Amino acid sequence: MFENLSEKLERSFKLLKGQGKITEINIAETLKEVRRALLNADVNYKTAKIFTETVKQKALGSNVLNAVQPGQMMVKIVHDELAQLMGGESVDVNIKGNPAVILMAGLQGSGKTTHTGKLASLLKNKRGKKPLLVAGDVYRPAAINQLQVLGEQIGVPVYTEEGNNDPVKLAKDGIKHAKANGHDLVIVDTAGRLAIDEQMMNEIAAIKKAITPDEILFVVDSMTGQDAVNTAKEFNDRLNFDGVILTKLDGDTRGGAALSIRSVVDKPIKFVGMGEKMDALDVFHPSRMADRILGMGDIVSLVERAQEQFDAEEARKLQKKIAKNQFSFNDFLSQIQQIKKMGNLKDLAGMIPGMGKAIKNMDFDDDAFKGIEAIIYSMTPDERENPAILNGSRRKRIATGSGTNIQEVNRLIKQFEDTRKVMRMMTKGGGKNMGRMMQN
Ligand code: GDP
Repeated sequence: MFENLSEKLERSFKLLKGQGKITEINIAETLKEVRRALLNADVNYKTAKIFTETVKQKALGSNVLNAVQPGQMMVKIVHDELAQLMGGESVDVNIKGNPAVILMAGLQGSGKTTHTGKLASLLKNKRGKKPLLVAGDVYRPAAINQLQVLGEQIGVPVYTEEGNNDPVKLAKDGIKHAKANGHDLVIVDTAGRLAIDEQMMNEIAAIKKAITPDEILFVVDSMTGQDAVNTAKEFNDRLNFDGVILTKLDGDTRGGAALSIRSVVDKPIKFVGMGEKMDALDVFHPSRMADRILGMGDIVSLVERAQEQFDAEEARKLQKKIAKNQFSFNDFLSQIQQIKKMGNLKDLAGMIPGMGKAIKNMDFDDDAFKGIEAIIYSMTPDERENPAILNGSRRKRIATGSGTNIQEVNRLIKQFEDTRKVMRMMTKGGGKNMGRMMQN
């Protein structure tokens, strides 16, 4: 995800290498590259321009701490601005009503029906809701059938009415049915079209008026880049929706939609779709997404996803260790082992700090981690906990022991050290203290 953008941003930060402090002159090139990276990722032109302008002001206005190099400082500033661009804080879906009513809107093929199912499953399993789905795409029997199949999979009933082709009446009846049967949540799927179409808009506006939903979620395919943003704008003008579900982020998406939607329609992305399976739905966290874009990994989401393997205590310990610069090769190794248990390797691997790059060009079979694991296994317990002692002769021994070579060993250690440094800076006081320190 966002690989190209990550790489280009990283390259732009490297331009500041060797500079003692940030000046208007030496950041000009970096800013130009940042802007180019954003445009290349299909970020809206105006958004990219404002973004680099803000980063520039912040960079010039900041006092670089002795301990922090300008390149690292820029990473931090760009990170915070990226998070800001995507909304800053995550925003919860409104499910307070009884029943709470969520209306799903979006073009055909965006993933609306799939995400109706995913959302019901998430709210059922994680928030204890008792959902009812309403199959509002009355024109396409296949769509009704698709929702029924999904409903069965996740154990959520689907309301349909044979022969009823009035989606407004169906939605109303569905809510009535939910009330009568003790459902505290109704999610209404609706008909989409391949492109914006007046009839579709009229229909969904009529449904909105008839059922006054607590929450309207606009579902959009992230692979469609700026089109996604334009469609969002049209739907929002008409429906004034509450939030966005950005789908297919597991694909080869460049990032433009994720980065531009908030600034163009001023509505939060609330969820992201990460695959076709019913559990592939994540709550959207702007700051974590910024971490991932900048190749910092996303340890928090990783830990959350792996709840069966990790516990919360473990997660806190790990964060503490990172903050204290104690994240060790043992932690690295145990992360890899957890990942291997979880499947969906490529997606998950990108969440480990530093791993995105290390495994970027590898084939994603079960052997993907073999070399890295072999290297770490060839270290002594002392070396794993305390990588600073890895001198030349130790490295040579590890290379021989792991059946790799000295370059591979050096590369892994270097990557690990670099990541640890940046991770530490990023996690210090959740980033907030850092910001304050820099403003002094
Ligand atoms: P709708 O027409 O808007 O209801 O779209 P569907 O829910 O039928 O989805 C269209 C296609 O996209 C289906 O093949 C889905 O399996 C697929 N799809 C939906 N969401 C995702 C996602 O997050 N990731 C991936 N890879 N595929 C998805």
